[in-house]
Amino acid sequence: MEHFAMVEPGTRVDLSAIDPDFREGLSKRDEEVKRRRDAARDAMGDLQQRLYAEGTQSLLIVLQAMDTGGKDGTIRHVMRGLNPAGVHVASFKVPTPQELAHDFLWRVHRHTPRRGQIVVFNRSHYEDVLVVRVHELVPERVWRRRYERINEFEQLLAEAGTRILKLFLYISKAEQKERLQARLDNPDKHWKFSPADTKERKLWEEYIAAYEDALTHCSTEVAPWFVIPANRKWYRNMIVAEIIEAAMREMAPRFPEVDFDPSKITIK
Ligand code: ADP
Repeated sequence: MEHFAMVEPGTRVDLSAIDPDFREGLSKRDEEVKRRRDAARDAMGDLQQRLYAEGTQSLLIVLQAMDTGGKDGTIRHVMRGLNPAGVHVASFKVPTPQELAHDFLWRVHRHTPRRGQIVVFNRSHYEDVLVVRVHELVPERVWRRRYERINEFEQLLAEAGTRILKLFLYISKAEQKERLQARLDNPDKHWKFSPADTKERKLWEEYIAAYEDALTHCSTEVAPWFVIPANRKWYRNMIVAEIIEAAMREMAPRFPEVDFDPSKITIK
């Protein structure tokens, strides 16, 4: 699968070379934006129906972003048009004591999609090389080994018929400031704000370095990373829908053959 946002496996990621404002010269109100977004969404709906009916392959979409990066908004937009029976969103928060008593992939593995299903990870096993690294929750020798374990885990899923797409919604530090301020200014958004967000913001550069390493070490043929320019929500939504559509087309799910002859059956 080729797309400008894809991290070519084996290449070193430098986020400063990517423009989070990128929009292909398009504007929000352009007819083309609406057309492309709607076309991708419609196609996704059709392909999902085939995936579900076929029941042999599955799709895992991993969403990662800085705070206010737009994970929730992306899920809302992209899921529109999909049949809820075949989609599931799994959100990963601070691990519980029970989760911490296991290896870091334990809690993740049980949420991977079954055949025919699409699962979206809202945060993921990548937190274990991001927040865990930035806050030094485990020693470096422990999180360093995880890149390889993650690649092996994703390889295992791929061999079991799971297509994996990993999307990093990339916003700028200035955009985050605006979004945090908007949460303070609007009473309806207060619930989204946490005073801890301002502490995390101070660690912006550390997070960027951790993201660059994760994207560099873990973009593989079977589970590529995509860096989505995400300062503009309309562009982000369009590109994400297009990437998912393209992957689903490659999966080429087909309605199963039936073992009866419909023309020989009479419904009385
Ligand atoms: P979100 O920001 O995803 O909408 P929350 O505000 O509840 O949801 O944040 C979830 C928190 O859980 C984040 O601060 C994230 O860094 C943290 N978290 C997720 N996974 C881990 C992990 N493996 N170890 C430590 N913290 C984690």
